[in-house]
Amino acid sequence: MSEPSIFTRIFTGEIPSEIIAQTENVFAIRDINPQAPVHLLVIPKSQEYRDVVELAAGDPDLLTEMIGLANTLASEHADGDFRLIFNRGAGAGQTVFHVHAHVLAGGLEERSL
Ligand code: 5GP
Repeated sequence: MSEPSIFTRIFTGEIPSEIIAQTENVFAIRDINPQAPVHLLVIPKSQEYRDVVELAAGDPDLLTEMIGLANTLASEHADGDFRLIFNRGAGAGQTVFHVHAHVLAGGLEERSL
């Protein structure tokens, strides 16, 4: 068993951070360093998968559950439109190797990507 990730430590309450929503297998928090007016993280409760490629191969239903929670949160926290970002690998900027989706919403019309 690997060391608990920062997100596992948040979910278990070891590190304080508000759990803003959850479904059976997924929870959401606000990113500590927001890059958009709304910047949330949607995270499986289990840290079994390191990144989205492993997740898609191992448990596509869990990936679908993550997207569903992202969609719900975008409606609750913004106008319903959102960008969903998965960083896969250190070279792409991934720093926490417990798969998570960045949900960016609110005022995203002007963008470079
Ligand atoms: P990554 O770079 O792995 O794609 O994304 C990790 C994200 O987790 C970063 O956007 C970072 O700001 C966020 N993060 C790291 N540590 C914490 C924390 O302790 N609390 C919260 N809420 N977010 C965190």
